[in-house]
Amino acid sequence: MEPITNVISHPVATMQNLVVNVADKILGRVPVSTDPKPLRSDTVMMNAVTWHGKGDVHYEKLGKPLLSAEDDIILRVTAASICGTDLHPYNGDLPGFKRSDTLGHEFMGLIEEVGPAVQNLRVGDRVVVSAAIICGKCRYCLAEQYDCCDTTNSSKLMEQAYGHRKGGLFGCGHMLGDYPGGLADYVRVPHADFNCLLLPPDVPDDKALYLSDVLCTSLHACRDVKPGDIVGIWGLGTVGLFAARWCQIIGAKRIIGISGTDYRLNLAYEKLGIEVINYHEKDPVRTLNEMVPDGIDVAIDATGFRFAKSIAHKLQRALVMETDTPETIIECMRALRKYGKLTLIASYAGWANFFPIGFMFLKQITMTSGVVPVQKLWKYCLEKLRDGSFDPRFILSHYMKLSDAPAVYHMMNNHEDRMIKSFLRPDAIFFGPDNYEKGCAILSLAGRPTGNDLGNNSGSYERTTYTHERISS
Ligand SMILES: [Zn+2]
Ligand SMILES: [Zn+2]
Repeated sequence: MEPITNVISHPVATMQNLVVNVADKILGRVPVSTDPKPLRSDTVMMNAVTWHGKGDVHYEKLGKPLLSAEDDIILRVTAASICGTDLHPYNGDLPGFKRSDTLGHEFMGLIEEVGPAVQNLRVGDRVVVSAAIICGKCRYCLAEQYDCCDTTNSSKLMEQAYGHRKGGLFGCGHMLGDYPGGLADYVRVPHADFNCLLLPPDVPDDKALYLSDVLCTSLHACRDVKPGDIVGIWGLGTVGLFAARWCQIIGAKRIIGISGTDYRLNLAYEKLGIEVINYHEKDPVRTLNEMVPDGIDVAIDATGFRFAKSIAHKLQRALVMETDTPETIIECMRALRKYGKLTLIASYAGWANFFPIGFMFLKQITMTSGVVPVQKLWKYCLEKLRDGSFDPRFILSHYMKLSDAPAVYHMMNNHEDRMIKSFLRPDAIFFGPDNYEKGCAILSLAGRPTGNDLGNNSGSYERTTYTHERISS
């Protein structure tokens, strides 16, 4: 039987979405550097994965997007994936969606058309696209604080509610810019020189795809980790598992993963060799206190605002007395040593009751948070893919078609079939499970023929060498 808190949250979530849509309509939009809605063909159709309500995702036909601004490209998608963040709208927890909004922000492909103002990309280039859409020119972009680009999100509602607008994101609803997402056969990418990373042929699709978000996000989660640290990671989804791998690369002394899902704990233990705690079996804070009596140096919260454990917080969330549960944050603060560091990488969206502000104050805890500035980190991540130190494929659990996306949402949401991370090909280029590696090899060579002539766009991989110091600064 469905828990009562879920039953309550259905109509509340629907109502929340409606209220946000009406408020957006009344307030209108702020002028931005590019129109988020692409022009679309009336005659040429394509397939896209779209939002239709809580738990309701469709695979449907939409008009193919057209070049809509001079610095656009049209991307023929060759691979895409579904992120934990995509489950927020699926669960009705991220309002601001309308019927037939295209979902998804992790995708890559081949450039099919190039606008006249695009300088460094050509037709046929193989690129991965950043989940965060940036203009490359505003104050925040110039400071490499790309996720907070000032000119790509037109939501006046976000400005009114939060004081300012963060940057736009693909496929995350109109509060976050209203850009159609990447779970489609084709995507229009605005400000393409800044939002595409050119890929060398030695990095296959099933490694490169994850540069769009999760590889960079998980590295961003580790920005306070130093060699020799003891790190606790709450949540062992893709970002938690990748963060554990980054901690190993950085040289953390001990890494302890906390989750309630057996197969993820097993994967972390078997593939990465980290220590694990199943919170259904042991109280995580008490166990950590026994394992590390002085407290851990760094806590990474990779769980998210939706996962209330106690009835009190489940009810408060269901009744919108709070939007986000602070329970993981409380556990992190209790397990941290004095002067410890807490990084929130999980999405938080609104407000939380019983936030442990006194714990933070009395233990001198520094808390950092925020969405990843992808363009700051993706070249460093690419280098780590190329030199073999990071192979993201240890979490790849499902190779499927784009038309399977509605099923993948369901499986991910319910932790079915040991789902961790999907790799989806548009149906027209799905090679079949037996030819999966062959397909990756063929498509890896589909871009520009030589590895050294990759232009000089912001995404060209050979220009900047990122060091760890640069990332953590
Ligand atoms: Zn994501
Ligand atoms: Zn900007």
